Amino acid sequence: MLSKPFFGYANPKFTYELLSTSLPRPVTITSPPVVTLMLPRKMGGAASPQLKPGTRVLTGQLLTWDDAPGPGVVSSVTGTIRQVSAHLGDYGRKYTAIVVETEKADEFDEGFAAACESADLSGLADYLSGVPGSPDLHQLTDPQKPIHTIIIYGGDTDLLVDTNLFVVKSRMADIAKGIHLLKAKAGAEKIVLTVPGESFQNFDGHFEAEVIAVPNAYPYGQPLMIFYQRFNRILDQGQTFQDQGVLFMRAEAVAAIGQALTEKRVPNEKLVTVLDKQGRKRLVSARIGTPIGEILKATGITLQERDRLVLGGPMTGTAVFSEDQPVMADTDAIMAQDASRITATSDYPCINCGECIRVCPANIAVNILVRFLEAGEYQEGADLYDLYACVECGLCSFVCTSRIPILQYIKLAKFELAREVPVEEANE
Ligand code: SF4
Ligand code: SF4
Repeated sequence: MLSKPFFGYANPKFTYELLSTSLPRPVTITSPPVVTLMLPRKMGGAASPQLKPGTRVLTGQLLTWDDAPGPGVVSSVTGTIRQVSAHLGDYGRKYTAIVVETEKADEFDEGFAAACESADLSGLADYLSGVPGSPDLHQLTDPQKPIHTIIIYGGDTDLLVDTNLFVVKSRMADIAKGIHLLKAKAGAEKIVLTVPGESFQNFDGHFEAEVIAVPNAYPYGQPLMIFYQRFNRILDQGQTFQDQGVLFMRAEAVAAIGQALTEKRVPNEKLVTVLDKQGRKRLVSARIGTPIGEILKATGITLQERDRLVLGGPMTGTAVFSEDQPVMADTDAIMAQDASRITATSDYPCINCGECIRVCPANIAVNILVRFLEAGEYQEGADLYDLYACVECGLCSFVCTSRIPILQYIKLAKFELAREVPVEEANE
């Protein structure tokens, strides 16, 4: 049984600096020699001829595995397909990686402009689900699980990451258009825009949405935290936001939707916060699919042996092992860490110092929970120690005296439990 709805969440403790009003201009990376597009489905069965190596693709062209309905990816460049291979992402996410050698000039595909003329939301969603910010618009077309509230998060979901907030502050007109079009085309009953409290007065009254302020303290900007604050509920085991009729979207995605439906072209440049080894920040704009190595080159970052490359921010990011890893539609940050400044995780046991409990905004007995998770006892962790109250902020891992990768254990546990087929379903 979960205790959190009863006790509620504690006030987050880490405040962060908001972007100043004199916004830094992002560095723009011109078209790289190759991009890698990630089609979100595994390879298998006969592929469409459009995916054959040697085939030319146009900027804005929708690529799918075959002609059957299913996931697609929009090409961010004009060029020739050189390679198609299987790629395994974290937590079992399967992709087909499509490597495209780019041409200097763009030739645009007209498929999206045609989809804009039709009233079919599903056709639009095929194109728009891969825009910067990666909004899952297909959820708006599912009659089994209708969405009643879209929540746009305008703050960022990790410390030091400015991507979303930069978009909120610099692209208000596109966001307003995106909100208008979501209302008109998707018929969303309620749209809520969350913005950091200190800049609330700049946004209230400018959108066809309810604007709410969230304190600029980490992890208030996390979707799980916003969900709890808004609905006074947590997601229980096996539940998703969609089951609750809620769709979360980054502000960057809403701005991209506004831009796409106005220009009749699918936006293809992702904004990324780049943190160098000295902790300095730059904003970079690059085509989706650009290898991270190109971004490091453009920002003067050179990695040495044992340095670490992280996709995401310091609290929730994930280490990657190749500079060929592409920027994806949901890549908000890239962080380089110098080997001398990396605090390694360890196999030391928990010493019950209590640091994790003091910092946890969900008031979880993290020291006990982690013992169950280390032993693979995920269901007990969920049933007895509030695994599902965790908002995945990573503060516990950050402060852990024994350097236990607690957040990774928690994410793995949720992933494994979600994979388990309920007995009744298996018997059907
Ligand atoms: S990640 Fe850790 S600190 Fe954050 S809510 Fe979960 S258990 Fe608490
Ligand atoms: S911070 Fe780490 S060592 Fe300390 S009680 Fe929590 S899990 Fe144990």
